[in-house]
Amino acid sequence: MLKKGDYIIFLSIAFLGVALLFFNFFGKQTGKTVIITEKGETVYEGSLSDDKTVTLSGNTVVIENGCAYIESANCKNQVCVNTGEISEKGETIVCTPNRVVVEVE
Ligand SMILES: [Zn+2]
Repeated sequence: MLKKGDYIIFLSIAFLGVALLFFNFFGKQTGKTVIITEKGETVYEGSLSDDKTVTLSGNTVVIENGCAYIESANCKNQVCVNTGEISEKGETIVCTPNRVVVEVE
């Protein structure tokens, strides 16, 4: 049989496990935000899990299935379109001619 002291230890471990799960869950939720800036101004800020198409003056940014990418752009070099999808924290897509930055935070 378990002693009273063992119960307390068991409950403490169980509580810690649950707390850790919650922490991980919310940590992931807040860690995946897409921020789109155009000419130094924030034009969109939202969760990476919300599917959305953001149309800027020269670029079309698509947020889909937890990834963000530039679908089309009117710039000459098309570097931003060729960057492809980003989904990890700290990744960015930059369109230098249009001064557009898409960032995952
Ligand atoms: Zn571009």
